[in-house]
Amino acid sequence: MEEPIIYHLIADYGVRVNILRASIDPGKRGRMFVELAGEDSQLSHGLNYLERTGVQVEPLAQEIQHLTERCTGCTSCVPHCPTQALDVDRQTWEVSFNPEKCIVCLSCLDVCIYKAMVLKDFSV
Ligand code: SF4
Ligand code: SF4
Repeated sequence: MEEPIIYHLIADYGVRVNILRASIDPGKRGRMFVELAGEDSQLSHGLNYLERTGVQVEPLAQEIQHLTERCTGCTSCVPHCPTQALDVDRQTWEVSFNPEKCIVCLSCLDVCIYKAMVLKDFSV
């Protein structure tokens, strides 16, 4: 999109925007995972603005699962997790996954060569 939608969300509607992951091809479609925060009215006006500009907004309808039987505990995924949903115990070096902290950014799926992190999609 040519429109600076993130700028407008912040400057015009007072919405706090945290971009978690983005893949955008100039002139083509793009996809962003964002966390939006603000008063109900700010969010409502901000989402209306996005709709008017042709942006399709969807709540996360996916969740990540950690398949412990596949996990080798290599810790490769831990530094790639932006929310510390994946963490390592510095005493035991055991890797843990906290689904409450996971924002489904998908970074760990790319990193884990053992396919221990999998995506469960409820949107289809
Ligand atoms: S990268 Fe995969 S195998 Fe390694 S600790 Fe993370 S989930 Fe486990
Ligand atoms: S998808 Fe993976 S890397 Fe992203 S927040 Fe969830 S556990 Fe962390």
